[in-house]
Amino acid sequence: MSGVYDVVILGGGVTGLSASMYSVRAGLKTLLLEQSMLGGQIINADVIENYPGFPQGITGPDLVMALEEQASKFGLEYAFGEVLGLDVQRRPITVRTEGDEFLARSIIISTGGERNKLGVPGEDEFEGRGVSNCATCDGYFFANQEVIVVGGGDSAIDEGLYLTQICSKVTVVHRRDQLRASHILQQRAFGNPKMSFLFDTAVESIGGDEAVRGVGLRNLKTEERREFTTAGVFIYVGYHPSTRPFRGVIPMDGGGHLMVDLSMATEVPGVFAAGDCRWHSARQLVNGAGDGVTAALSAYAYLESS
Ligand code: NAP
Repeated sequence: MSGVYDVVILGGGVTGLSASMYSVRAGLKTLLLEQSMLGGQIINADVIENYPGFPQGITGPDLVMALEEQASKFGLEYAFGEVLGLDVQRRPITVRTEGDEFLARSIIISTGGERNKLGVPGEDEFEGRGVSNCATCDGYFFANQEVIVVGGGDSAIDEGLYLTQICSKVTVVHRRDQLRASHILQQRAFGNPKMSFLFDTAVESIGGDEAVRGVGLRNLKTEERREFTTAGVFIYVGYHPSTRPFRGVIPMDGGGHLMVDLSMATEVPGVFAAGDCRWHSARQLVNGAGDGVTAALSAYAYLESS
């Protein structure tokens, strides 16, 4: 513990790093508390094409390193550990991790989200042995093999397109008959000769021996079941907000998103939430960055007035 911080920022993704930069530049004593590795969801992104200012795209690691350098330059402090809980009744606020406690006059929660699981037999068993949710990390292991991608959103299609550069064939298995992914990604996917689609289809099981050998599929319209041979199963079926430690402390909606006003303030004085963990987030990087900045400016205004 190192005294009382003006702001403790929980979560070191793009949202938290952007909040940190504004907070330290405003002269606030700021701690960024991250569970494992800075960067959050984009740390493995092969290329980010829609972050303003990078017409050629930028890789996730490059963007994170640049943000970290920018925030560190102005004196940001870091700590690593999983947030277990908050005490907002007493002031300063106490942030608890497994081995530490941090005191803060205000906090910004930017804990983002975690990938959803399919919840089917074999998913956990074959994790790291054919089941993955990171094409850039694991795609290499499936060179010249056939894989499936589960989901119809931007993540599934983006990562599926990446896999077509390595694998012999990528089959997208999606539960509806239309993709959710953005128009440009859909165009690329439908135009890619290595990509094929199984619509209205659910993965019911993942099987194999020492590694994945296939999946059990069910057509949701005809109820027809069949086995499908594949070496890899890349799962991208959305996110849920990482807000468990704040249950019962900070008001949230039914999906666990933290409720904020337009200044990113929660109902709890001095507690702000930004990015994918808050309700009605557009869940885009640039929104996360913007939310982080709004939250930092609001924290500054709160500290000035309290
Ligand atoms: P998402 O947009 O929530 O899409 C999740 C997909 O998984 C949907 O197609 C959904 O089907 C499907 N799904 C959900 N639960 C399922 C289940 N139990 N079984 C089978 N399928 C299931 O999530 P995402 O693709 O990870 O994207 C998250 C956010 O990041 C989005 O805002 C996205 O725009 C953004 N993102 C952007 C980019 C980019 O711009 N390049 C790249 C990655 C992510 P339904 O369609 O039927 O609901």
